[in-house]
Amino acid sequence: MNIVLLGAPGAGKGTQADRLVAEFGIAHISTGDILRAAVKAGTPLGLEARKYMDAGELVPDSVVIGLVKDRLGATDAQRGFILDGFPRTSVQAVALDSALSDMGKSIDVAIAIDVDPDAIVKRITSRRMCRACGYIGTIEDSRCPKCGGEMYQRDDDNEATVRNRLDVYARSTAPLVDYYLGKGLLETIDGDRPVDVVYADVKAKLKV
Ligand code: AMP
Repeated sequence: MNIVLLGAPGAGKGTQADRLVAEFGIAHISTGDILRAAVKAGTPLGLEARKYMDAGELVPDSVVIGLVKDRLGATDAQRGFILDGFPRTSVQAVALDSALSDMGKSIDVAIAIDVDPDAIVKRITSRRMCRACGYIGTIEDSRCPKCGGEMYQRDDDNEATVRNRLDVYARSTAPLVDYYLGKGLLETIDGDRPVDVVYADVKAKLKV
């Protein structure tokens, strides 16, 4: 099962991906997580990426495409994968198709999680993440409900950056919905519902 998850920042892609990974044991490939790990480790990639991330801009295509190609080649991705936050531009989508075709693979389905833009800013600014395991929670979680780790607010989850990320999404990423529609791979889901209900719908679309 090779899945692309599409949706604006804060649509719930990471949360739904975590559930699918837990249930089906496929690889979770989140370019945001890979980049945040590089920032935390202070690698040259992290130092370069941070400038873009803090401003809510996209990291250059060439950098992100290279990361995903490496990740798709890893052992755990051979059983299937969920791409979360990639592709984000048409250039990335075309590069993904070509990399997969070189590996004799393809995308089975692209799931677009649709959310009301007005609700997103509130949702993201109250989002908190676990420093230890990456669990995505809310301001209500004083510790991580999964591992007890410290919850923190992502540097790019402040209101000004979120607004820019939404603009970037509308400009560069939203057109990918048509890209996957044209390929007959698109399934759209209403993300303005409780997490469990959205997840049931995701599974229904995957027919699993
Ligand atoms: P995310 O965790 O998916 O919201 O990503 C956080 C930030 O990482 C984004 O705002 C971008 O700066 C960067 N990023 C993540 N994925 C990509 C991508 N596919 N292309 C370019 N930049 C990305």
